[in-house]
Amino acid sequence: MTREGILLVVSGPSGVGKGTLCAALRKEILDIEYSVSATTRSPRPGEVHGRDYFFYTRAEFESMVKKGELLEWAVVYNQLYGTPKEYVESVLEEGKDIILEIDIQGARQIKQSYPKGVFVFVAPPSLEELHKRLVQRGTDSTEEIQRRLSLAQEELQRALEYDYLVPNEDLEQAVLNLKSILLAERCRVERIKDKITGFSKRRRSSG
Ligand code: 5GP
Repeated sequence: MTREGILLVVSGPSGVGKGTLCAALRKEILDIEYSVSATTRSPRPGEVHGRDYFFYTRAEFESMVKKGELLEWAVVYNQLYGTPKEYVESVLEEGKDIILEIDIQGARQIKQSYPKGVFVFVAPPSLEELHKRLVQRGTDSTEEIQRRLSLAQEELQRALEYDYLVPNEDLEQAVLNLKSILLAERCRVERIKDKITGFSKRRRSSG
């Protein structure tokens, strides 16, 4: 009997380094899947449809919402973002783990529908550092950066709703923390109950 798949939700303010952190985790833990989100925002240079996001028009996105094809969705910085349901469900059914890199509104929806998920909040060392990272990333206008920073202040208050907080000051340490969380969750008795039950039955019958 395989163990149940883990739905690992990673949230945190824009620019905190969630993407880098999740990519680094996936390099170390090969048997974890990644949920590619749907969005109405335009691709950034280098982003590929189907790998980084599924880039859709608003009409296409709204049709997915209507048909119930999204596990959660939210308006983030005036654009729509959502998690395609079918892929996540099939991965979990196969007993595999999957990472969802989504905002706090989406994380809340998942917590309602799937409380067994593991919720991790990635926090910046400070708002000043976050500002610096957003500027360095060079993908957003000054206006957009200001919008993302003011939202970040609100988001930081929500960290209390999560199971774990990973400060992203030093990337290596943050990856180690995230990896440790996943590995520990994989050992939770609650998730491997069936294996234990099977083991004790075998022992009884052989002894
Ligand atoms: P970005 O435009 O910088 O790629 O992402 C902006 C924000 O949208 C980030 O906080 C990111 O985590 C969030 N986001 C990405 N995909 C999803 C999704 O499928 N659902 C939700 N709710 N948020 C998402």
